[in-house]
Amino acid sequence: MPKAYLLIYLLMGAGPLSAQPAVDEQRCANFGEARLRQAQAYFYAHQLALQKAASQRAGASQFRVESPTYRLPLVFHILHYGEPLGQGTNVPATQVYSQIEVLNEDFQQRNPDFTNTLPQFRQEAGQMAIEFYPARDDPNGQRLAEPGINRIQIPRPAPGFFWTAESFDAQIKPRTIWDPSRYLNVWVVDSLRVPRGVTAGYAQFPDLSGLAGLPERSPANTDGVVVRYVRLGSLNKVPSNAQLRSRLAGRIFVYGRTLTHEIGHYLGLLHPFDRETCAVDGDFCADTPLTSSQSFGCNLNQAPCGVPMMVQNYMQLTDDACMSLFTACQVQRMTTVLEVSPRRRSLLTSNVGDGGPVTSLASANFAQQVRLYPNPARQQVRVQLPASAQKVLVYNALGQPLRQWLAPGTQFDLDLTGLPAGLYHLHLQTAQGTAVKPLVVE
Ligand SMILES: [Zn+2]
Repeated sequence: MPKAYLLIYLLMGAGPLSAQPAVDEQRCANFGEARLRQAQAYFYAHQLALQKAASQRAGASQFRVESPTYRLPLVFHILHYGEPLGQGTNVPATQVYSQIEVLNEDFQQRNPDFTNTLPQFRQEAGQMAIEFYPARDDPNGQRLAEPGINRIQIPRPAPGFFWTAESFDAQIKPRTIWDPSRYLNVWVVDSLRVPRGVTAGYAQFPDLSGLAGLPERSPANTDGVVVRYVRLGSLNKVPSNAQLRSRLAGRIFVYGRTLTHEIGHYLGLLHPFDRETCAVDGDFCADTPLTSSQSFGCNLNQAPCGVPMMVQNYMQLTDDACMSLFTACQVQRMTTVLEVSPRRRSLLTSNVGDGGPVTSLASANFAQQVRLYPNPARQQVRVQLPASAQKVLVYNALGQPLRQWLAPGTQFDLDLTGLPAGLYHLHLQTAQGTAVKPLVVE
């Protein structure tokens, strides 16, 4: 879109330009509304219809078709203020790719912390045959410089400016969205507000327009997911991002679960507590135990409805480090959405190309092929690596970046003069991920 438009909208203001009071950041801005429950009634009925049809087919044909893997192309629209690539709101590609890794682990139940799931809930857990990948091409069929990434510079807004879901949906999404029947659009933004504070993200529910009996539609030109840039990706996977690390110190949503949760909404999941009562199932999934309340932090011993709450469910509001599972019913609901919701189903046959594989950290095999010598070093160190380094940074033992070199290639010498003796880490960013190598300076 023309940048002038964005400038105008920013200056006109999408929300009150007031000093930001200290407010708590909330996990999610998708809260139970009547229209969501109406949509839910449809899903529930449709699931039953699908099951019935499947059982009829099974009876007629005597064999089962193996389940497909649902593959969804992602584009991350990074709205930034013109910082150098990889800094501030202009987040590095590795942060995006670490997010894709988290999504694939979480939805496929390959997350390393699944083992933390309470024993009584492990049998309820669901694995989903789904894979998220970065789009290779833009809507015009041109290869993206960075797979899955569309960088959009906007003017830095006045202090105190913030987006609300309403203003962002009205002013930014329609002008920046890529065809939502071909891309899962993710917008990465600086600040988001909800009435009671800041939110880490929000999502649009599946499109049901055109289907009989559904009063609400889900407009195509705002379809997708929004996340704050400091909630994108996982600190576990991008240790080199010291700037992000310093911003996030002590924060609770730093392992990429904001988008796990929001894409759960995008694929039709509700919060287990959405009806705020013990009388009925808040999310229409019997295997997420009844709960009337939200869970924050990581208190695993909550039972507001007399049964243990599934605090670790991705659709709760728990801390990132405390989450570990979707349930089988939740997986079934998301599968139903992918089978029947028009703009979700069409993603499965999108022709935007697969820009992967991408990785935030280089493979161990790749990292082993990186050579530093001499090491320990004095005035300089020679580096050889199997793929061209786009950027090299040297970090001290406190994780502070001290120097950087841009596009040095596959073999180069780094000047170490002036660095005090001690242990450092070289971060070598390549198209195959970032290799991290220890370096001792004498
Ligand atoms: Zn939510």
